[in-house]
Amino acid sequence: MRKLTILGATGSIGDSTLKVVAQNKEQFSIVALVAGRNVTKMRQLCETWRPKYAVMATADAAKELKNQCQELKLNVEVLYGEEAMCQVAALDEVDTVMAAIVGAAGLLPTMAAVKAGKRILLANKEALVMSGQLFIDAVEKYGAELLPVDSEHNAIFQCLPADIQTKMGRCDLSGAGVSHILLTGSGGPFRYSDVSTLSSVTPEQAIAHPNWSMGPKISVDSATMMNKGLEYIEARWLFNASKEQLKVLIHPQSVIHSMVQYKDGSVIAQMGEPDMATPISVTMNYPQRIDAGVAPLDFTQLGELTFLDVDFARYPCLKLAIDACYEGQHATTSLNAANEVAVDAFLKGQIRFTDIAVVNEKVLSNVCAANSSLHSYDLETLLELDTIARKQAQQVLKEH
Ligand code: NDP
Repeated sequence: MRKLTILGATGSIGDSTLKVVAQNKEQFSIVALVAGRNVTKMRQLCETWRPKYAVMATADAAKELKNQCQELKLNVEVLYGEEAMCQVAALDEVDTVMAAIVGAAGLLPTMAAVKAGKRILLANKEALVMSGQLFIDAVEKYGAELLPVDSEHNAIFQCLPADIQTKMGRCDLSGAGVSHILLTGSGGPFRYSDVSTLSSVTPEQAIAHPNWSMGPKISVDSATMMNKGLEYIEARWLFNASKEQLKVLIHPQSVIHSMVQYKDGSVIAQMGEPDMATPISVTMNYPQRIDAGVAPLDFTQLGELTFLDVDFARYPCLKLAIDACYEGQHATTSLNAANEVAVDAFLKGQIRFTDIAVVNEKVLSNVCAANSSLHSYDLETLLELDTIARKQAQQVLKEH
């Protein structure tokens, strides 16, 4: 039986993970659940799943949860804060950690799981974008097992030979006969909108993704295609891919979740319903396949599958992320931080949709100018860069 800690248990990936657990109860047990501030949802999860530990981000949220759990006579130890999150990610009794906290807040708990040599089911792409080589080196050093949950990366993973699947971060793509990784993306809700109308897009319109149901931050990132940019950086690290090996392709129907093109002309694609329970279940009991509770793809109902090149004028955030990927770690760490601040401001109605790219671009050019000579990074430096970029983004918002 696999013993799980779920980081980000109250979110969309948390929901899908628990759906897979519910479908395969005899194979998994929940040791610890971690969330931010959503006490009501965490209390419900504690009632259903009876974890040994429940960790909230703040003392207030933990106090409230503790009271509610006591009233229900639930035997759960309620903790709070980043240190407690790191502790439950590294418990001896846990072998598998779902890393699904949204944003940079996921880095340290995920890294704690890596350092404890766990099987890491990586949904929190921001952690890898923020720390890149450092993260990959830690996976190797501490003997952790890294499995990609993000649907595109999970698709690519499934299309690669089995011996490469156990070498995430250290793949020899060329040696395996791979010519290209084709990272597909739907283009989000505004792929056919007139570009001149994008400045008046509302948060409600931006989070209404045409194919996937996800949390608000990743939904906005999908609309700007910053999500594809973060995924591009994630793919570069996970698959040890060169610039020439990585390509982005728009595929509006989201039936194909990504592809691998081989030197002999073969292309292997992974397909399925747009339901995160599939990639999650691929990782949870890897290499055995389990029932994800997902409807089979009905090819007679699919209609046409279409593909388009990326239009960077429509998606400036994607261009920024690809450029940052080759600029260096300082660039991707800062871009990730700036984007979190900008998306939050957009969701709160403080800036326009098109301002997200403006904020990101300004912070990125400031940070790159100040740090171009920086070539080696430790965790402290990266967290410092994250803080500096957030402050700069706040400043840009103030002056806006
Ligand atoms: P949600 O917004 O739905 O959930 C985010 C989770 O993170 C919640 O459990 C939230 O807790 C928790 N959280 C937020 N802040 C903190 C904090 N400071 N400390 C601890 N926990 C915190 O996001 P998603 O589930 O959509 O996405 C999660 C991650 O997975 C992201 O990195 C995203 O990019 C990635 N991902 C998501 C996909 C999807 O389909 N949803 C697909 C591929 C990747 P609370 O609710 O209590 O605030």
